[in-house]
Amino acid sequence: MIERHYCAIPNCKVPALLFSEPPRCITHTSNLEDWYDRFEEVLSAVEMSSSEREWEQLVARNVIAGEVFREPVAAELYGHWARRADPHGTKRFRIAEIGSFCLLAAASGILGNATYDGVKALVRRLCEADEPVFKRFVASERYEEMRHRLHPHAPPVVGLSDEVEAVVRRRYRILVLRPTSPKRRRRDRSR
Ligand SMILES: [Zn+2]
Repeated sequence: MIERHYCAIPNCKVPALLFSEPPRCITHTSNLEDWYDRFEEVLSAVEMSSSEREWEQLVARNVIAGEVFREPVAAELYGHWARRADPHGTKRFRIAEIGSFCLLAAASGILGNATYDGVKALVRRLCEADEPVFKRFVASERYEEMRHRLHPHAPPVVGLSDEVEAVVRRRYRILVLRPTSPKRRRRDRSR
């Protein structure tokens, strides 16, 4: 069994993210990317049954997917997508992991002042999708409007910065690839 800790911030009674050091809950983790780095590293080193391992990875994936609602730019994109998908607000839906991935990729692109087409091309390369999945979740006009709002005086970065690309690739690994499940990884190769 893995030892569980509570967040080390005084008066915070929330369980800490697994393997966070010092122990921190999601709210008090300033850098989820760093945490996930450590998570992957420790997870590969500890003794665990494969089902326990899959379970922990599922939990971690949900933490990262939850960024869609916590990261303000991603949350705004989510709001636009949800209103397009359901203009009258009558439905309740769960966004698929590929959707979370696209919205988070777009948020990274907007924050990093990357062009819509740059992010779209990377998503396409990663997902090898015949279907233009990025476009389904993120409208280009909305993306450019938000990017311009955040970077009113800077021309967009042509292509993607290494930093943005690294973040998008990592999210892809976490949300879409599913590292412990090699069957799924091979599944999409045949076209
Ligand atoms: Zn906390």
